[in-house]
Amino acid sequence: MIETKEISHTKSMQAGVFGPMTDMQHEQVVFCNDPATGLKAIIAIHNTVLGPALGGTRMWKYDNETQALNDVLRLSRGMTYKAAITGLNLGGGKAVIIGDSRTDKSEALFRRFGKFIDSLAGKYITAEDVGTSTKDMEWIAMETNHVTGIPQSMGGGGDPSPVTAHGVYMGMKASAKHAWGSESLNGRKILVQGVGHVGENLVNYISKEGAKVYISDINEAQLKKVAETYGATVVNGNIFDLEVDIYAPCALGATLNDESIAALKCVIVAGAANNQLANETTHGAMLMEKGVIYAPDFVINAGGLINVYSELIGYNRELAFQQTDKIYDFTLDILRKASDESIPTYLAANRMAEKRITDIGKVKLGF
Ligand code: NAD
Repeated sequence: MIETKEISHTKSMQAGVFGPMTDMQHEQVVFCNDPATGLKAIIAIHNTVLGPALGGTRMWKYDNETQALNDVLRLSRGMTYKAAITGLNLGGGKAVIIGDSRTDKSEALFRRFGKFIDSLAGKYITAEDVGTSTKDMEWIAMETNHVTGIPQSMGGGGDPSPVTAHGVYMGMKASAKHAWGSESLNGRKILVQGVGHVGENLVNYISKEGAKVYISDINEAQLKKVAETYGATVVNGNIFDLEVDIYAPCALGATLNDESIAALKCVIVAGAANNQLANETTHGAMLMEKGVIYAPDFVINAGGLINVYSELIGYNRELAFQQTDKIYDFTLDILRKASDESIPTYLAANRMAEKRITDIGKVKLGF
């Protein structure tokens, strides 16, 4: 069972093979090696108290194996919290394949990886992540049933981004309710950084509701398309000191750091990007001190996880959207708890996730 303790990013890790695993409380780590296909992968199962460990497979050209191990340990732990806070009966897991996703992929490699996943008999379920695609999931699915994120044509859920965007929209509205007493975004000035798969869908929702939308992206063609389609205003350069009500990071992680937080003029931060706080402890506290309401990323971007979870129970897109509506209530509960206890919002979310795991763990053990 997960120990109720706060995990500090600044804490020094124990040494040895079991050190980081012990620090982060992982159940199992599986190293997969297959010289014939060139497969080198690590599957990390963080916690299975609530259910099987679900999390995507990332394919990345890591500088070294330690970096790959640290990444998979950190990401799998994050999945435990995301599933727990979203009320899903899932644990946290993740996998990494060490390699270049542009040049090192093959059917044989992914099918071999599928066999490794199958050997875990459902304890770990995979999905797409950075560097992997639905095509790769199709290959994995030839060797195991423990895979989600397969195309709709194969009975899967397809692209999760519209569902993710719906959840971010719900989280944003809940944050507005908490800040201003009304969930309406009509007339609010909202900056969306990154108008890719999730960001564009989010722009669609908020512009329909009458928000004044500002957008930024490094992809000029996409920026132009979104600006023209939704009547959004393009902003360039340093975007953080823009006079807006809401900042929605939907590009990369770690955009909330010492410099950007000092510059922020918004009341709310609510977006899709993973790991928005450069340092959870430091920057979570900085936002609180500045009076900026931060909707924790792993709570409001959980629509994608809800979407793949619904594949496990028989995919129904409408139901996945309905489940994602609940992100509104989850967000509101977290923001209220954080206010009541004068703690950063990410910490309130972590504690609620840990409590659910502990409580349900006891139920399962019959205490
Ligand atoms: P995407 O690649 O489709 O879109 C990201 C966009 O951000 C791209 O248009 C890119 O050009 C832009 N971008 C990159 N760097 C930028 C910068 N410095 N400034 C402005 N724009 C920049 O990705 P996505 O699927 O829309 O995901 C967006 C974020 O949400 C990612 O952090 C992802 O991890 C997270 N997320 C996505 C999902 C999902 O369902 N797709 C689920 C959970 C979390």
